[in-house]
Amino acid sequence: MRVVVGGGTGFVGTALTQLLRSRGHEVTHVSRRAGKDRISWEQLSQSGLPQCDAVVNLAGENVLNPFRRWGDAFCREIIRSRVETTKTLAKAIADAEQPPHAWVVVTGVGYYRPSPTAEYTEDSPGGDFDFFSRLVSSWEAAALIPGSPTRGVVVRSGVVLGQGGGAISQMIWPFRLGLGGPVGSGLQPFPWIHIRDLAGIVCHALETEGLRGVFNGVSPSSPATSNGTFARELAAALGRPALLPMPAWAVRAIFGAERAVMLLEGQKVVPKHTLESGYSFIFPDLPEALKDIVS
Ligand code: NDP
Repeated sequence: MRVVVGGGTGFVGTALTQLLRSRGHEVTHVSRRAGKDRISWEQLSQSGLPQCDAVVNLAGENVLNPFRRWGDAFCREIIRSRVETTKTLAKAIADAEQPPHAWVVVTGVGYYRPSPTAEYTEDSPGGDFDFFSRLVSSWEAAALIPGSPTRGVVVRSGVVLGQGGGAISQMIWPFRLGLGGPVGSGLQPFPWIHIRDLAGIVCHALETEGLRGVFNGVSPSSPATSNGTFARELAAALGRPALLPMPAWAVRAIFGAERAVMLLEGQKVVPKHTLESGYSFIFPDLPEALKDIVS
């Protein structure tokens, strides 16, 4: 299969590209910079979609970049880098003479309202209560192609855990030094997924004819994982203590109040449709997932 991946040069994209190539598929990235096996967004807009069987979008400015101050300009970039890239790919699919068979967009579990108790499946309501939920709604709306023969899949991802990027790369050093700990109260749910499973779900969605709709990209044990459990397990995997909580005020000071919600609150998300679709998780449990990542 020939697969075009927007944002395929990033953390998740690198894992997905490796997996797809190992399964014999050809991958072309869409990037801000053209290069080998890579076209630019401008080339895509001008020349249309290259001949392909499937399209994925993973593009997006890193929301938790601590070096970017939370403000209007950063928020606009967060929205633009997701919604406009998704619209550009959706238009390219709609205009293609030979449309691809599958179109997958990875969004986020920020769609669901943070709660210490509620459990959410793909059928649960959400998408209209804060910046992140409205972001996911417009992102998923941008992916819709009315009347298209291309089947559409949305994977709502939790915090992606893997080596060399994402959340773990930001927190591993304090933990390695024995200075890590829970964020805020530590009681908030921590919806997580191992990067190989997120890549696996996207690949499963591309390869399984007839699969369409929304799939939660979280591990099956994620509803039972709190931020405190995660801190304890990460410290245990590293053989270090996890004694020093990061106070809520410090998180708000570093990230800004609106963005700090992502760390200080969380959702219990169940991958109901994902499991029903036949996907079998490689890392359903946190200790094994973390051992694999820190080893
Ligand atoms: P990355 O931060 O690695 O970014 C992915 C790619 O997006 C980059 O390689 C880059 O490609 C492109 N990109 C970055 N900033 C911009 C920008 N301002 N404008 C246009 N393109 C940009 O993301 P991940 O791989 O971690 O995540 C992939 C997708 O999954 C993202 O949309 C993210 O929101 C979503 N997601 C990720 C989670 C996580 O924990 N990592 C959790 C939930 C959802 P290039 O430089 O080639 O243009």
